[in-house]
Amino acid sequence: MKVTVALSLGSNLGNRSKNIVCAIKMLSSIPMTKLLACSRIYETAPVGSRKKQPYFLNACILLRTHIPPYKLLKYSQAVEKRLGRKRKRRWCPRSIDVDILLYGKAVLKRNVLEVPHPRMCLRRFVLHPLCEIAPFLRHPEIGLTVAELARMNL
Ligand code: AMP
Repeated sequence: MKVTVALSLGSNLGNRSKNIVCAIKMLSSIPMTKLLACSRIYETAPVGSRKKQPYFLNACILLRTHIPPYKLLKYSQAVEKRLGRKRKRRWCPRSIDVDILLYGKAVLKRNVLEVPHPRMCLRRFVLHPLCEIAPFLRHPEIGLTVAELARMNL
């Protein structure tokens, strides 16, 4: 079964734009997967406990894939690893961070994979790029579209 998936990408270490572009290339070459859309790259101030870190570049992409969610997570973690991400502390600067935001209408509640991403509705740096490419995608638990969620986070 083919599913539309939204991913968010962020980088605040090294050559940030190169990291984002390489991650997009690698993610679009996952088997049985097609890149549907790609947002512009946004520069955003770090938030929360990351406040003292360098600024981030953020983007979102939409994929159409046959790959099941946990396998897609493995592929995104492999991309993070290939682009030099070292998993140290949770909120430390990272060459690349890939989050699965939405996996079709799926709702998964495991530590290893929570979909929809539990913090996506609070993050402007996620909602704005996502709204650019997928305003009509609907959050399966909240029932609002990405455009409606983005408007609530202006
Ligand atoms: P972070 O350091 O913020 O990238 O968190 C990575 C951890 O979050 C990994 O251990 C993932 O298994 C887990 N995780 C849970 N839900 C998701 C999701 N929707 N997308 C990516 N990673 C997730």
